[in-house]
Amino acid sequence: MKEKIINMLKDRGITLEEIAEIVLDMQGPYNEDLTLEECLLNVNMVFEKREVQHVILTGVALDKLAEEGKVEEPLRSIIVNDEPLYGVDETLAMGIATIYGTIGITSFGYLDKAKPGLMGRLDNKESEFVHTFMDDIVAGVAAAAAARIAHTQEVGELEDDIP
Ligand code: MG
Repeated sequence: MKEKIINMLKDRGITLEEIAEIVLDMQGPYNEDLTLEECLLNVNMVFEKREVQHVILTGVALDKLAEEGKVEEPLRSIIVNDEPLYGVDETLAMGIATIYGTIGITSFGYLDKAKPGLMGRLDNKESEFVHTFMDDIVAGVAAAAAARIAHTQEVGELEDDIP
């Protein structure tokens, strides 16, 4: 299932490396030894979680269905136009962001506002894809990976305790 999800993202123009870059950007200032490889490893761990996989399956399906005109109005226009007050995309992705505890909420909020790197590209309305759910999925995965790194630093040698 994990590989299927990763390929699904790839088909939509998203790589795990780009998500890892966002994580490094966020966590780098708190840990100068942090590498892109470590961030990528933590992003991979987030994708192992069944709850995360389910959110991604659901969000990407809604983006694609809206794109293909297979969602009824008025929902289709709301998703295609990424209506600012829709909010269901954020609500869904919060389930990813908080997978390692509420620490992920702050990062998720920051990413939603600042839209660094890949996030900015996904927000670009010129894209051939509808990314209404995808931008929040990416923010959720990056926030969860950052939370995992923060927890790993806290517990130090007990790292194995973190699933
Ligand atoms: Mg969105």
